[in-house]
Amino acid sequence: MVRTRFAPSPTGYLHIGGLRTALYAYLFAKKNGGKFILRIEDTDQTREVKGAVDIIISALDKAGMHYDEGPIVGGDYGPYIQSERKAIYLEYAEKLVESGDAYCCFCSKERLEDIHKAGATKYDKHCLSLSKAEVKERIARGEPYVIRQNIPEHGTSTYHDEVFGDVTVDFKDLEDNILIKSDGMPTYNFANVIDDHLMGITHCIRGVEYLMSTPKYNLLYDALGWDRPVYIHLQPIMRDANHKLSKRDGDAGFEDFLNKGFLPHAIVNYIALLGWNPKDNREKLSMDELIDCFSIDGLQKSSSIFDETKMRWLNSLYVKELPAKEFHKLAKPYYNKLFPKRKIDYKYLSELLQSRVEILSDIAERAAFLDAFDEKADKPFDFTLFANKKWKTDENMARELIDECIAITKADALTDRLSDSLNALAEKRGLKKGQVLWIYRIALTGAAATPGGGEEMIKLFGKDEAVKRLEKVKQALN
Ligand code: GLU
Repeated sequence: MVRTRFAPSPTGYLHIGGLRTALYAYLFAKKNGGKFILRIEDTDQTREVKGAVDIIISALDKAGMHYDEGPIVGGDYGPYIQSERKAIYLEYAEKLVESGDAYCCFCSKERLEDIHKAGATKYDKHCLSLSKAEVKERIARGEPYVIRQNIPEHGTSTYHDEVFGDVTVDFKDLEDNILIKSDGMPTYNFANVIDDHLMGITHCIRGVEYLMSTPKYNLLYDALGWDRPVYIHLQPIMRDANHKLSKRDGDAGFEDFLNKGFLPHAIVNYIALLGWNPKDNREKLSMDELIDCFSIDGLQKSSSIFDETKMRWLNSLYVKELPAKEFHKLAKPYYNKLFPKRKIDYKYLSELLQSRVEILSDIAERAAFLDAFDEKADKPFDFTLFANKKWKTDENMARELIDECIAITKADALTDRLSDSLNALAEKRGLKKGQVLWIYRIALTGAAATPGGGEEMIKLFGKDEAVKRLEKVKQALN
């Protein structure tokens, strides 16, 4: 039975790189009929942020990745929050001390600083030589200590990674890392091994930053007589060729993109393709399709550059296929914020906008025409808009047509006759229909771009408002 896990630290923020790690672990588990586990790695309590676990759980939920075991839902291998497993780690650390694979270290911060100042690049195994009796006595005296891993001084270690192939590390490049801190909490270096084993994790999918330290973890698996998991390390998502996409860019979080108006599944779909490909040219894939075609050998060894324009494009495909009701529901908060007082047919506005926005926040720009002309807000009508090069129209033409535009609106707005009447007006004046339509739409809105022509604008404003607008323009033109 395949078991994978997502093991975030609760920092209050879910980077989309983290979300992608979770996604691959989720897809791999689901593809193989296995289980996807959420484990919270909160052993560095100085980094912990209140409410951070909820942020992670809610992000996974929005992204459609439902974990089988973890906080809240529970499971047979809990607890799934590391700070609640403190006693478990201590028990195994003591076993390792017993077997000589780890040792107690009493070195003070000052001593460690001194050896580094003197040129040491790693801990010098000073406390390894302490006798059992001395260790016992110092612990009994209440001296603070940590437990360190005892890494061999010579030799190399090779393991196989599913993405990077065989990885070899020289032991001399590895440090006797701390496994248990003086407060009794484990470090990542220890807890990941204990938990992956005890939770029955078969495939360990995580960031490439752990690629070179994995031999240390393998020593622990071996010392405890446990099988190692299959390793799958992932390249980071890059901002450009030289920089990782980082929190400092201000928009690397899943929530940041949701706030910008991306749809959760569009984000998931896009990041799935950043580092993996389905071996055909498909780019738009539902969660079920992703599960169906996911495989480890589609993972890339090279890193990928995040392209927001591409993600926008993908998002637009999902926006277009939303049921109209759903799009309107998502658009409403934008309307409320943008136009707290304006009374128009917002449901109809949604119909006009749905095919014209890539991400929801584009609504602001696409609907700005509503505020283009507003006497109260001191936004005077821009008469230069009547001039259109293609149609060869101008303000004078508007002056000549405005009375009839008003009359036609009064008589025919919201009926099938409107279009014919505007056509007839064009014929009567020896103009092209496009010229009349241009003048008419500009007069109704005072905006260069609108999501629809005059007819749509009247449907949006209602007949009375449309007439009122035209009359105001007439006054201003005279
Ligand atoms: N807590 C680690 C991190 O957030 C998890 C790494 C892993 O998946 O093993 O980087």
